[in-house]
Amino acid sequence: MNYRNVISRGETAAARAGRPPGSWRLVAVTKTVSAQTAAALFDLGARELGENRVQGLVSKQYALSGKGVVWHMIGHLQRNKVKKVVGEAALIHSVDSERLADEIERVASTRDVVQDVLIEVNVAGEESKYGISPEDASALAAGIGKMEHVRLRGLMTMAPIAEDAEEVRPLFRRLKALGGQMAAEGLLPDKDYDLSMGMTQDFEVAIEEGATIIRVGSALFAGL
Ligand SMILES: *Cc1c(COP(=O)(O)O)cnc(C)c1O
Repeated sequence: MNYRNVISRGETAAARAGRPPGSWRLVAVTKTVSAQTAAALFDLGARELGENRVQGLVSKQYALSGKGVVWHMIGHLQRNKVKKVVGEAALIHSVDSERLADEIERVASTRDVVQDVLIEVNVAGEESKYGISPEDASALAAGIGKMEHVRLRGLMTMAPIAEDAEEVRPLFRRLKALGGQMAAEGLLPDKDYDLSMGMTQDFEVAIEEGATIIRVGSALFAGL
């Protein structure tokens, strides 16, 4: 497994951008590997694991229960599956509509928990099918801001597949600028908000552009 390699590439990218060590974190995406491999990765030091499907989240969580994994729901979430995720995932990265946020609020309130979420923003336009448009992100954030059991922690985006990571740098810049603007408007926690961006193909560029969370899968498991 390439856990240490990914961490060191990330730290090198952070240093290039003048960012201090530890100013970003890895969510290790385990959707393509067994629970056993996910457990081995955790033992190497990857404390935060992510799944893009509810079924994967639930089954890995069961298999790794008791280890103290911090779980992330990173993929598209349907309203009828919210019940399985609220209170189980430390952070839901993919809130992209008021209806979804309302359902999270409803379930979280019946369980008396506060669910941390990110708004998934589609900064890539037509190439991406999920995520709210940048123009509509503020209204959604304002709506979530009124909810008692949903806490908005920041923004997430998924860049389209590109041959060269440089192609997606402008998208990461756009998410960072949007985050800054929304924080200035009081819609995100000032200074302390998360930007979840960057995957195997582009995580170093994402860190250079201000990612606080990267979501990396394949790079960790190449050669397994
Ligand atoms: C699979 C996935 C990732 C990780 O992708 P890799 O290219 O394997 O690093 C990141 N984010 C989301 C939403 C994913 O579904």
